[in-house]
Amino acid sequence: MMRRRITKIAVITLLCAEIAVLVRRRGFVLGANTVVRCRDGHLFTTLWIPGGSLKSIRLGWWRVQRCPVGKHWSLVTPAKVSHLTEAERQLAGEHRDLRIP
Ligand SMILES: [Zn+2]
Repeated sequence: MMRRRITKIAVITLLCAEIAVLVRRRGFVLGANTVVRCRDGHLFTTLWIPGGSLKSIRLGWWRVQRCPVGKHWSLVTPAKVSHLTEAERQLAGEHRDLRIP
C-alpha cells in the first residue's frame, strides 16, 4: 500500500518535471515572473506555478484572472517571451498582479 503511494508520487513528480521542460523548450517561462496576455492583448507578469493557484480559476493552460492593465477579468495565457519585443517585455514587467499563486 505504502509502496504504491510512493510510486504514484514519483510518477506525478516526473510528469510535472517533464511538462516543465517541454513548456520551457516551447519558449514559455513559468514561475515568479511569467509574462501572460489577456484576451484583450494586455501584457503583465504574474506568479504562475503549474498545478496551483489561489487567485484564479484554472482551465488547463488558461486561467480566468484579474488583468491589472485593463482592470477586468479575462482568460489569460502565458506569452512566448521570445516572440515579444523589448518594449513589450518592459511593459509587462511594469504591470504585475498580486504576488500570490
Ligand atoms: Zn486585459
